[in-house]
Amino acid sequence: MGDSLLLRNAKLVLPEGVINDVDILIEDGIVTRIGRGLEAPNGVEILDVKGKIVIPGVVDEHVHMREPGLEHKDNFTNGTLDAAAGGVTTVIEMPNTLPPVENHKILLEKAKRLVSKAYVDFALYGVIHDGNIDEFDEMVYAGAVGFKIFLGPTTGNIPAPSDGTLYEALLKSAKFKVPLAFHAENWDLVKYFTEKVKSTGRTDPKAHTDARPPICEEEAIQRIALYTKKTNGISLIVHMSAREGVEILQRARNEGINIWGETNPHYLLLTVEDYEKYGTLMKVNPPIREKEHQETLWKAVLNGIITNIGSDHAPHTEEEKKKPVWEAAAGFPGVRTLLPLMIDQALRGKIPLTRIPELLSKNPAKLFNLYPKKGTITIGSDGDLVVIDPTAETIIRKEDFHSKYPLSPFIGWKLKGRIVYTILRGTIIAVEGKVLGGPRGQWIKYSIETTHK
Ligand SMILES: [Zn+2]
Repeated sequence: MGDSLLLRNAKLVLPEGVINDVDILIEDGIVTRIGRGLEAPNGVEILDVKGKIVIPGVVDEHVHMREPGLEHKDNFTNGTLDAAAGGVTTVIEMPNTLPPVENHKILLEKAKRLVSKAYVDFALYGVIHDGNIDEFDEMVYAGAVGFKIFLGPTTGNIPAPSDGTLYEALLKSAKFKVPLAFHAENWDLVKYFTEKVKSTGRTDPKAHTDARPPICEEEAIQRIALYTKKTNGISLIVHMSAREGVEILQRARNEGINIWGETNPHYLLLTVEDYEKYGTLMKVNPPIREKEHQETLWKAVLNGIITNIGSDHAPHTEEEKKKPVWEAAAGFPGVRTLLPLMIDQALRGKIPLTRIPELLSKNPAKLFNLYPKKGTITIGSDGDLVVIDPTAETIIRKEDFHSKYPLSPFIGWKLKGRIVYTILRGTIIAVEGKVLGGPRGQWIKYSIETTHK
């Protein structure tokens, strides 16, 4: 169920190393041969990519594409068009849509609705709260590859679970080997500090950062690490923003606890100094913080303590974003800019190029049991590839977005490197940011066989 394509003279960049001038043959959507001077089977399209970098398609483990129920913000068609244009070939879609994905029926209905609109492959999260822990197993059998647990408030206002539910969910995570992704902010502390800062009368955008100090994350991550240890569950702390959280993650990982950490480009590229320029456009949860936090995040990314980088793609309407600081919506569309921003950092020497496919493809695919079908380029994996010209430039423009509201702080940024082709299971789905053809994405489900091998 895919096309055939022969890439010639690729500079193949994988976490394991770089191979120059190599050919990659994809047949019926699957990588069948990698080597030099491969013979082209009859009728197979040939793409000479000399001088270009080839990496595995990005697996963006953290997208909120807003469908169903929140289509006034955006929809799955636009979201996956942006994914295709941005070198993302698999997205893992968050469950805080309407209705929330809290049972297997809703999960199946969501999958059915999205599959005809998907320009890239996708997998689905379920959500766990106090009212639906009994649905965990059925959602796994229906295909959920992971679960989201909101310890803090979010779009959709899904309540945080009690500690007992948290523990039980982690026991189930251990049983099925599915990860739980945590929005790790202590809601009570967020409320306390927010009231405190609000009462001073502040309305500047940085008040948002001061209303959610690092202790909110620190407390939540500490608790998750402890429960993960006691249950042998699998945890992912999404959107890490604070030094204190990284320190706990580091200790926990050193202890051998199965806890993973994600950060997002905006925490690596923006600091509170940028509020002046971007205002509530860069309002996200947890908040963007001071330089010292950013430096710790970079260190953690470089030394492998932070394991994953996702986009936290979270579009809102212009009206919702432009409200005063306390009411403005948190988040902005990121799936289109995730890879270009990180490639730019690599080409500027901030991070080795080989780490990009590890953080954006391999580790997310491994964590969500999609590897090695997704997340790498090896014999037998899906032919999901991105071809990048390291000598060209990218300017992020508003018109490059398919989002209903392309409200990104990165518009106007000038980047090193340019995505030339996005290839999904052997089919070229985007050229220079232009998406070709119709939606051909597939739903990728949790599979007992591959997960427990
Ligand atoms: Zn999110």
